[in-house]
Amino acid sequence: MLDLLLPPRCPGCGDFLPDAGKLCAGCWFSLSFLSGPSCNCCGYPFPHDRGGEVYCGVCHAHERHFDRVRSALTYDGGSRPLLLGFKHGDRTELAPFLSDLLMQAGREFFTETDLILPVPLHPRRLIRRRYNQAALLAGCLSSRTGLPWEGLVLRRHKATIPQEGNYTLRQKNVRAAFSIQKGCQELIEGRRILLVDDVYTTGATLQSCARELKRQGAEKVFGLTIARVVRPGML
Ligand SMILES: [Zn+2]
Ligand SMILES: [Zn+2]
Repeated sequence: MLDLLLPPRCPGCGDFLPDAGKLCAGCWFSLSFLSGPSCNCCGYPFPHDRGGEVYCGVCHAHERHFDRVRSALTYDGGSRPLLLGFKHGDRTELAPFLSDLLMQAGREFFTETDLILPVPLHPRRLIRRRYNQAALLAGCLSSRTGLPWEGLVLRRHKATIPQEGNYTLRQKNVRAAFSIQKGCQELIEGRRILLVDDVYTTGATLQSCARELKRQGAEKVFGLTIARVVRPGML
């Protein structure tokens, strides 16, 4: 009945579609999948296969608290409308479709993961938005993989992560942004954690979460996002 009153629309272009929570063919083909060779740690894509375990400049030069991060798509004109609709436009019906993309991009992680954790929103932002898009994805991944997820283990103290400045400055800015909920240490200690978020911009958010999790004794911390910003200059 709801579909008759409000026919589903493509989140990319707004065209009418027969089914909700999907993309039209044109928008689907505009997505850039990150399936080629990439940095073994952060997943930064390389134009050519360099053979073996290869790392990007940032992962060479800086300590990484996460072990490996993978993303499904490049964050660009093709994926942006989808991500913005999901994050700010109440398009929560996209969660199953987007978690399909995560299932594919993160397939190497699921046999090595004990617990899935979404990157949390600041409580003030959660009240305004009414949902945490990363938690919706974590819940979908949990039901598909059978792995447990917990939405209240990680807490966010700062509403925004400053993205300006050089790499070292950004890391310093986000250092105190996250903490572990009191009493949750036993869920973390000795466990392999998979962090889920919608977009990897500079990696500072995942770094900050991973740092806290490692401090609490996590054995491994992986990261999985739908999209990532790929800028040659960002290294
Ligand atoms: Zn479309
Ligand atoms: Zn890297």
